[in-house]
Amino acid sequence: MTTAGLSFIIIGASVSGLASAISLKRSGHSVLILEKDAQLGGAASILNGCARVCPNGSKILLDWGLLDAETKAKAAPMPGFAFFKYNAGYSEGSEPDFLGEHRWYPELLFEARGGYMQFRHHDFMRILYDEAMRDSSSRVSVRFGAEVVKIDCEACSVTLRSGEIHTADAIIGADGARGIVRRTLMREEGVSLDRDVPIGVALYRDLCMRMISLLGFYEYDDIGSTVFDMGRSTQMRAQLIALPASFCSPFVPFAAAWIFPVGRENDLALSLYTPDATQDGTWTEEPEKNINDVIGPCDIRLKKLASLAGPTTCVQLKKPYALESWVSKSGRVVVLGEAAHPSPTGGLHPYAVALEDAVFIGKIFSHTRDRGRVPEFLYAFQEQREKRCARIREIDLEYVEACITPLGPMHDQRDAGMRANHAAGKNAMEGDFQQMLDDFGVVFGYSAADDADEWWINWGRFRNTNTENGNVEADGRLRSTSFISITTNATKTGNQ
Ligand SMILES: Cc1cc2nc3c(=O)[nH]c(=O)nc-3n(C[C@H](O)[C@H](O)[C@H](O)COP(=O)(O)OP(=O)(O)OC[C@H]3O[C@@H](n4cnc5c(N)ncnc54)[C@H](O)[C@@H]3O)c2cc1C
Repeated sequence: MTTAGLSFIIIGASVSGLASAISLKRSGHSVLILEKDAQLGGAASILNGCARVCPNGSKILLDWGLLDAETKAKAAPMPGFAFFKYNAGYSEGSEPDFLGEHRWYPELLFEARGGYMQFRHHDFMRILYDEAMRDSSSRVSVRFGAEVVKIDCEACSVTLRSGEIHTADAIIGADGARGIVRRTLMREEGVSLDRDVPIGVALYRDLCMRMISLLGFYEYDDIGSTVFDMGRSTQMRAQLIALPASFCSPFVPFAAAWIFPVGRENDLALSLYTPDATQDGTWTEEPEKNINDVIGPCDIRLKKLASLAGPTTCVQLKKPYALESWVSKSGRVVVLGEAAHPSPTGGLHPYAVALEDAVFIGKIFSHTRDRGRVPEFLYAFQEQREKRCARIREIDLEYVEACITPLGPMHDQRDAGMRANHAAGKNAMEGDFQQMLDDFGVVFGYSAADDADEWWINWGRFRNTNTENGNVEADGRLRSTSFISITTNATKTGNQ
């Protein structure tokens, strides 16, 4: 056992890559991050981004000492949201058709130890990047414009497009759902990336800079939330959500739009879920169509925002292939974040879940400097995180599906339920969406740090003798222990 930290290569300088670097640095290891883009957060020309950080993620920022005034000043808090019909309020001066509202229960946020925050994607990257680089001249380094084109899992090395080769004790694939590490693991399992199947829904997203005033009914209250006064007796500190169209159109059989405040400069993010099987873009490329081309007949506020849309992105929602193993057969390469468990595009949870992954992996690796234990720790990461990540993915998808419920009895029942709840002074999601409300509590209340500690206390520390017992091969791979076989033989239902 050596006292020097382990060396990690992280592929991808986005949320999970930067957060994992912070976490591993805190545990005394050194990290080289390789990012293919030339700059942090992708091209500056596409300011598409809204990073929604749920309480399970913001408590991590708090624990890392990152929730200072400067950080808070970059986020719009999100105390709840309000639901409106998509196909009403067509004309200038008309009222939106209100269905009901959801406010996060204060006790839920209190117990979760975190608030709900919405940053510009670029701002959020900068916060993580600065923390990763702080006081870390030797421990963390980031190379931009460094695209990894080849991974040798056995040698634990990567080759860059430039031909350079880098080697480490472990490689972390934080390179997203279409990244090379996920593809490498899929190849090990004998499948190709086209096993991620589009479900026929695309998310268009645009960031409308300093546009809150466009809606004409906002002000800031004493906690700085955006207040949408929708012309009612009570003002709603809420984000505005327009729900699916209740009219039949051959072009837009369903659509759902979210408008939410981002950052503190009065920006509005406009997201539109729409059926679109033709565009398969990314967060960094402009699609052929603009939001304005696909929005169809809708509330005038939505229309206005869409007409002002700048560069838009369009990303398909996919049913991802569920990797049998997040860890390479060599036991030295692991995926996390989107590369391990791709989320429904634009879901509520991916940022927070990426932060959770980072905390978990950093925390468990705080207990070892032993290269021989790398495979065991990487398998433990999958074993502990996989179930939760899969469940959160389902929750995110249920949320999207609820909003894009096509016309029919379920659609009508959903709207009637929300209106009735509102009339009774209740949360719009009570009743029909009670399970979703309960799920929020479970998701927000989780602490990745506690979970990692629990793994160590219940499992990790008892395996501390693996090296001495001769359970580890010369190359660091664990011999066939019950732990390995349970993990690698786990049956996945996600791919059926
Ligand atoms: C530029 C950008 C903007 C985004 N904007 C939004 C948004 O507005 N709203 C939203 O909900 N989600 C957005 N996302 C997605 C969001 O970041 C993820 O859903 C999630 O939060 C965490 O993702 P991740 O860090 O695991 O992977 P990702 O965020 O997908 O990041 C993967 C990183 O790996 C890099 N990479 C990929 N391949 C290689 C390679 N071969 N070599 C080196 N580096 C590589 C990519 O350039 C990227 O930086 C965006 C992602 C990106 C990359």
